Amino acid sequence: MKRRMIDRVVIALLFVTLCIVFAERANRPPVVVPATAPLTEFSAERAIKHVIAIAQRPHPIGSAEHDRVRDYLVARLSNFGLDPQIQNATGVGTRYPDAGRVQNILARMPGSQSGRPAALLVAHYDSVEAGPGAADDGAGIAAILEAVRAMRAGRPLLHDVIVLFSDGEESNLIGAAAFVREHPWAKDAAIVLNFEARGTSGRSLMFETGPGNLDTASVLRTAPGVTAGSMFTAIYRTMPNDTDLSELALLRTPAFNFAFGDGADRYHTSNDDVAHLNAGSLQHHGQQALALTRAFANGPLPRPRTGDAVFFELPAIGLVVYSEKWALPLAFVAATLALIVVIYSRKEGIRYGRDVAMGAAATIGAAVLSIAAAYLIGLVLAFLHTKLPWGGAPAWSSVYWAAIAMLSLAISTACYMALRRRGSVNGLHAGALVTWTLLSLASAGIAPGLSYLFTWPALIVAVAALFPDGRGLVTTKGIAMCVAALVTAALLIPIAYLIGAVFLGVTAAGGIITAAIIALIAWLLVPLLEILCHRARWSTPFSCTATALVLVGIGIVTVRASDVHPVPSMLIYGIDGDSSEAWLASRASLASADAWTRTTLRPFTQGPEWIAHMFLHPVAIVARRVPSLPLPQPAIDILSDSTTSDGRQLSLRVQAPATATALGMRVTHAPVISAVIDGCAIDTTRYRLRTREWALRYWAPSDAGALLSFTVPAGSTPTLEIVARSPGIPTLPGVIIAPRPANVVPVESGDVTIVCRRFFIPPRK
Ligand SMILES: [Zn+2]
Repeated sequence: MKRRMIDRVVIALLFVTLCIVFAERANRPPVVVPATAPLTEFSAERAIKHVIAIAQRPHPIGSAEHDRVRDYLVARLSNFGLDPQIQNATGVGTRYPDAGRVQNILARMPGSQSGRPAALLVAHYDSVEAGPGAADDGAGIAAILEAVRAMRAGRPLLHDVIVLFSDGEESNLIGAAAFVREHPWAKDAAIVLNFEARGTSGRSLMFETGPGNLDTASVLRTAPGVTAGSMFTAIYRTMPNDTDLSELALLRTPAFNFAFGDGADRYHTSNDDVAHLNAGSLQHHGQQALALTRAFANGPLPRPRTGDAVFFELPAIGLVVYSEKWALPLAFVAATLALIVVIYSRKEGIRYGRDVAMGAAATIGAAVLSIAAAYLIGLVLAFLHTKLPWGGAPAWSSVYWAAIAMLSLAISTACYMALRRRGSVNGLHAGALVTWTLLSLASAGIAPGLSYLFTWPALIVAVAALFPDGRGLVTTKGIAMCVAALVTAALLIPIAYLIGAVFLGVTAAGGIITAAIIALIAWLLVPLLEILCHRARWSTPFSCTATALVLVGIGIVTVRASDVHPVPSMLIYGIDGDSSEAWLASRASLASADAWTRTTLRPFTQGPEWIAHMFLHPVAIVARRVPSLPLPQPAIDILSDSTTSDGRQLSLRVQAPATATALGMRVTHAPVISAVIDGCAIDTTRYRLRTREWALRYWAPSDAGALLSFTVPAGSTPTLEIVARSPGIPTLPGVIIAPRPANVVPVESGDVTIVCRRFFIPPRK
């Protein structure tokens, strides 16, 4: 009796410890290397000086601060003995309807075998308008600068290394687009390493690769402490997210994309500053940049063409890499072992077949119920925190992540309790293994990058299941199961944590994935569930539920808006230049979460449609009528208007007020057949989203304005809507805007003034 109790406590502790250890480890960046380290090493203490210099203030494209940062970077590269150049061009996005005047900074570090091909290191030096961009992407820039310095301190590498500090990434990747489209060095790039951030701390995860990553993934093994998995690459490909690599993908070279993502509630806000940047994350970026650039520039370039790889990281072993071709054979090995387990444990009794079927179905059932519970709890927590006076961002809370994991364990053990009376332990376990091997086979067939998540745990647990049965934990089978649990947790818990609490958010898809993973793990380890639940009646699911509730309680009290976890806000002062009406506006989603915005905009109604067009895709805008100021307005000048068999071709100059950093252009009342901006044809074939009407955002317009040509059907009379956007909001007579509280911070475009004009283009005489 007593021993059974001890076993139960050991299993419970094992589960909790493995979750905590692997979750914590998944997100802990490496130790910062001090500035006293040898000059050939990467030191974040040295690199952070660059972040301090770059991230003093927001430096979006087109701003004076942007030019200061540009000059700083050019001076640093010159100091390393390089000959930096600035690529002045009109960048035209191929993923989004954006274009603009960009200034990419480039430098080429010659190798001993100088000439092409080369390794290309990329980070963007512009920030969003709302924040100083210490992490995004000051850390990426600083990592490359310090890595280049370290390389210059050592022996020359074999191949050239090209540094691209891109402009206009936050303007939807237009700097990278200009590099790909026009720069002569673009075709020299034989491997691309891009460094980004989606938060302010955490490990620098390698989350995206170029095509045919078997070769490059094996080089990845040479970098110290890599965090990577083919699963992240497979999932990222399905997500609507972009970095410069989305444009650089047109080069069709092998590539790696690195980003850290913890502290996502500071991403693109004024709190993405030096004070909140984790120097360990910078260290992780940089040591990988340095090691991989050395490995690639000293190795064969271009790299050999290969297929894709399955790769994942294991503690003590490092990165495991094998060809995707092995995914199916390995899944078959796992399936064969599972079949042996099924046959081997047949002596269980006459209803054995039914037990196996029950186990297989219950594994899926527990996962589905856990997913449903996580979905509901996610909705409740998200809603609750918008109503709580202290707010908070529950999506990124590790306490809520643990609560969802506990709830999923409660559901899994409850399912087990419900079936345990009707089926045998070994029968149910064999059934769970059948489900796992089916998942393994399906993933190996459909998305091989995911297959390791199912194949290796199924394989190892099947081997453990073949040990003879014993009583309790201290038996060969009990110990083998614990070892299998350790390997399973090492593979899956970091993924559950990173997807759940760091990258997708526990109140959204991340919570659902976490719940599914925990339920599947619990059922895979049925022999341990048996020890945990046996003769304990319902006390196990009950105590798991109680723990989950306690964790939710802790979350409700501790997850709150603070200057470390700020509430994002954004104000738009919009003037309709045609009607002289003006509004103070914000996104409805931000106003619903933030008392300061609600108070500032009260009494508000639905905002005018043209303000929503600032966001390209339809978003709800709330707005309050305010006095209109006589601010400078955008203007157009029609240069030519001709009709051919292709349609009516219009050429015009769009002029922005001197303060404007961006122009929104939209053509209504006529479909646009084709368009050209500053002489560059706009290719819409790769666009992520399509708007009903033709639209383009144009960034950093020069004094001469932008040259727009477009073709509409012959005889049509289009209207061109132009919105000029300038940073900041002027003092408005009779309108008091209280200063933001410390926990409310500007996000994305921050506070801007936009002035809209519509130009009716009359029929051609
Ligand atoms: Zn970025």
